[in-house]
Amino acid sequence: MREYPADWEALKAADPEVADAIANELQRERTNLRLIASENYASPAVLAALGSTMTDKYAEGYPGRRYYGGCEFVDVTEQLAIDRAKELFGAEHANVQPHAGAQANLAVFGAFLEPNDPDSKVLGMELAHGGHLTHGSPVNVSGMWFEFIGYRVDEDTEQLDMDEVEDLAKEHRPKIILAGYTAYPRAIDFAAFRTIADEVGALLWVDASHFIGLVAGGAYPSPVPHADVVTFTTHKALRGPRGAMIVCKEEHAKAIDKAVFPMMQGGPLEHVIAAKAVALKEAMQPAFRDYADRVVRDARALAAGLADEGLRVISGGTDSHLILADVRPVGTDGKAAEAVCDEVGIALNKNQIPYDPNPPSSPSGIRVGTPGPATLGMDEAEMGEVASIIGDVLKHPDDGSVKEKSGERVRDLMERFPLYP
Ligand SMILES: *Cc1c(COP(=O)(O)O)cnc(C)c1O
Repeated sequence: MREYPADWEALKAADPEVADAIANELQRERTNLRLIASENYASPAVLAALGSTMTDKYAEGYPGRRYYGGCEFVDVTEQLAIDRAKELFGAEHANVQPHAGAQANLAVFGAFLEPNDPDSKVLGMELAHGGHLTHGSPVNVSGMWFEFIGYRVDEDTEQLDMDEVEDLAKEHRPKIILAGYTAYPRAIDFAAFRTIADEVGALLWVDASHFIGLVAGGAYPSPVPHADVVTFTTHKALRGPRGAMIVCKEEHAKAIDKAVFPMMQGGPLEHVIAAKAVALKEAMQPAFRDYADRVVRDARALAAGLADEGLRVISGGTDSHLILADVRPVGTDGKAAEAVCDEVGIALNKNQIPYDPNPPSSPSGIRVGTPGPATLGMDEAEMGEVASIIGDVLKHPDDGSVKEKSGERVRDLMERFPLYP
């Protein structure tokens, strides 16, 4: 009998079309430079847990309190994930079941807010300034059912303006104040958010999806001591499987657990939870601290390199894994920049910049992130090379020889830092 039944040869035989697409995706990952700030590479150990037979098991409920029999082994892995999350982040309570970041955020709404209730206001970052879809977008349940008030970054510094946050909090008396964004490069002053939340009697919720991996590695301030509740995805800088978690103060534990199950979800994805446990163990190792440091060092080097190429780095730099850059100074826009980088094997995304005069479909900026290259081991010297390639193709988008040369430089880099060797 086999110890581990997942079998690549069986997949190729049973479904060559799917197997081909999976193999092509791996080949794409091996040849493209991943500068998408929200993407990373899960380890072979994490991938093995994901491909395990724990996918077969129903386990509604929580460890020790399940609605199904036969949960003794998924209880082991889920409890490990919970205990490790609490230890790693210094949290009082952890729920490791949210299927994804959007579901974790939905559970916060379920725990603390009533739909269409004028007293259930949330003060969060305006979407155009870096808020996430689930932070009040009109096409998302957050914006359809709940009232969001938006704060913005300061027009001159392009950084958070805590006076504006305080003024809006006093004016609107929100039930929740939300910090944590998808396109904000700087450190967030969580203590200042806590003070404002206390002044108006609001809960402080931090959506740490983007930077929680840096928190785990000690390279970014932790929101956990300050916030009532922290939601985060596990697949971005944290480098785990696609999914999410919630950590919170003990006083909110019951409300959060009930909101995740049975309010918003049914059976947990126990194979993913096992993979989350593995990722958390990896994040507790000294090598992960090196990785987190490298992510931030790489981002600073890349920001400096892009500035040397003539791009305008938003807020003048970065304290995290991501850089937002205005590409108009080199005569292009975000959409064209994304396309020409894609042509030479660099994956990044177009992004609005604060107070962007251009529409989201062709914004003025790009967002680039370094978790991917840092996982591969690339360091400051490589980021200089990457900035130079990006500068070349942005300035010469129609020059075939520049693009050919740039494509070769990207391939060289990827060959020097092989993925899943
Ligand atoms: C990525 C992200 C999410 C959503 O995560 P999904 O897993 O895609 O649902 C939520 N909030 C923030 C700030 C994010 O960056």
